[in-house]
Amino acid sequence: MSELKYHFASDNTAGVCPEAWAALEEANTDFLPSYGDDAVTKKACDAFRDFFETDCDVYFVFNGTAANSLALASLCQSYHSIICHERAHVETDECGAPEFFSNGSKLLIARGANGKLDLDQVRHLITHRHDMHYPKPMGLTLSQSTELGTVYQPTEIQAACALAKEFGLHTHMDGARFANALAALDCKAADITWRAGLDVLCFGGTKLGMAVTEAVVFFDRELGREFAYRCKQAGQLCSKMRFISAQWLRILTDGVWRKHAAHANRMAAMLAAGLGAIPNVKVLYSVDANAVFCMLPPEVENRLQKAGWKHYNFIAGGGSRFMCSWKVSEGDVKALIADAKGS
Ligand SMILES: *Cc1c(COP(=O)(O)O)cnc(C)c1O
Repeated sequence: MSELKYHFASDNTAGVCPEAWAALEEANTDFLPSYGDDAVTKKACDAFRDFFETDCDVYFVFNGTAANSLALASLCQSYHSIICHERAHVETDECGAPEFFSNGSKLLIARGANGKLDLDQVRHLITHRHDMHYPKPMGLTLSQSTELGTVYQPTEIQAACALAKEFGLHTHMDGARFANALAALDCKAADITWRAGLDVLCFGGTKLGMAVTEAVVFFDRELGREFAYRCKQAGQLCSKMRFISAQWLRILTDGVWRKHAAHANRMAAMLAAGLGAIPNVKVLYSVDANAVFCMLPPEVENRLQKAGWKHYNFIAGGGSRFMCSWKVSEGDVKALIADAKGS
């Protein structure tokens, strides 16, 4: 077997993009106030407000699990519940952190095709019980892009948020791959967030190409009123904050985020086309962003394994997942396709 190649194993196997790296270097000067009281952090928060065209509150944490769990915890009391998709990262891949940080708020599972919430199921979960023996639904979370690589259209987000609001639920978006979704939709960031009814967004930085950071953006600022305390208590307040904020400031400037996200999306489209053209390979979902899921016949699976292309099979019921990051090149995509074909 060849040496393992991690290019497509996840979008967090790549390193730090040159722009973020340069921002880290530039931030490495002088003595500056700590814990986010520095000028770079203030500028970065303003950059978010420009980006979203609204007066939102912004907090930085180290990873997506913390961002999601702390954001969800701020939506509800321990006796409340939060509705999510059965494939949601908060349900399947956060080791119970959302329940832990909310002191026990229960996740309620809804199904839905293509990684998207079926709103009839959501409505049922909200309305079928009203007694005190059932944890009262208080939050709705959706992932953009979804765990299956699909992207919610603005109208779909509006509909989901409108349903939540009809019953007084708060809305959260797991945007570990928000930039990929936004680049794919080519709309305003506001149109798939607060203007569509979203209260809080976890905006992924790490998979986009930065080092160790996700932003939690509160459009409903009242919900985030004590969020700083939550971050500190959870060990998520960075003392040398400028190294996080400098990266964000750079990525949100001059469309750097779009360059990297659109590139990753393009690589995924190319990979899907190449793999999909191989006999008996079935691409499973619409490749809207930077993920490709496919059912591979055993001979293709074996050739990829032998060539060392690391990928995961546990996420979509036996399908194989390939993720594209800012760093994968056309050459990498072609090499994987060639090995899959055995050519
Ligand atoms: C990667 C990912 C996260 C964040 O995971 P961490 O490893 O905690 O940074 C959150 N949601 C989704 C959908 C993800 O893919």
